[in-house]
Amino acid sequence: MSSPIEQMVAYIVRTAEKEREPRLIAEALESELKGSGLSPRDLALTFSTLETALSHYLGSYERATGLVACSFCHKTQGAVALIIQGPTAAICDECVTIAVDMVKEKQAEPKQGTLGRLTEWFRGRT
Ligand SMILES: [Zn+2]
Repeated sequence: MSSPIEQMVAYIVRTAEKEREPRLIAEALESELKGSGLSPRDLALTFSTLETALSHYLGSYERATGLVACSFCHKTQGAVALIIQGPTAAICDECVTIAVDMVKEKQAEPKQGTLGRLTEWFRGRT
């Protein structure tokens, strides 16, 4: 008897083999996740398991082909303008741009302390 996590991984693999359109895979997966009864912890473990497997696979692919892929979006050299390699991970220029935007948005958020909440409250009244 396989664990719920193994069953979910097997479902994801079956769906990905059957369906080619990423959007349809995502829809099928979303509905399976909703009906699975898995806890958020089990879902996180499921995706962590898949992430580990994918990362191992991509690592062996990169070693075999000499191609470096972004650790975030998995695009390879040639598909992006630049890939910056670190000791255990790599990131492409597109993911850096997204990350910089996320940092800027976070920095622009009002502070969550009392002063920030008061400022928000006053803004809402003007
Ligand atoms: Zn990337």
